[in-house]
Amino acid sequence: MAEAGDAQTDAAVDRLIGLMARLPGLGPRSARRAVLTLIRRREALLDPLSQALADVAATVRECDRCGNIATGELCAICANPARATGEICVVETVADLWAMERAGAFSGRYHVLGGVLSALDGVTPASLRIPELVARVADEATREVILALNATVDGQTTAHYISGELSPLGVRLTSLAKGVPIGGELDYLDDGTIGAALLARRAL
Ligand code: ZN
Repeated sequence: MAEAGDAQTDAAVDRLIGLMARLPGLGPRSARRAVLTLIRRREALLDPLSQALADVAATVRECDRCGNIATGELCAICANPARATGEICVVETVADLWAMERAGAFSGRYHVLGGVLSALDGVTPASLRIPELVARVADEATREVILALNATVDGQTTAHYISGELSPLGVRLTSLAKGVPIGGELDYLDDGTIGAALLARRAL
């Protein structure tokens, strides 16, 4: 663990720094500063963080219905009856779902694919929860499916495949339009851009 700490650091602290350094956006230097802050602010940060990590580790799972992060069978969105609007928004990842929620422009439910089709990486429709999406569209009296996929080649290939699967069901198919840059990823867009793109969605 030489990369994480100094010679003065205890093994347990070193181990924490090494784990923190593997988080996105943190390197060894930021991890050392974060761990020092945690130790200095034990009551305000270290103890609550430790408890929060244990709570999430004990309960976190995939929502049975949409693939979002959940702590029970259903996620907070699927469990909310006010979100049953007959609209399903299809996203690639949970990060994209959170980005859509931050925009605050969508009141229906989601379906998280868990990725996009990729012949190169061997990603097939079955590994993307697409059969589950087709089943949901029939089961949930869905009027509209919004394909909020990234404007990448694989994202658009996936949108094309899903529209082929859903077309026979007679559901309205739309996709995000203006606002999403070519090659762009939802998680990096500002909230206003995502909201505008959702409002300007078009039929496929
Ligand atoms: Zn859910």
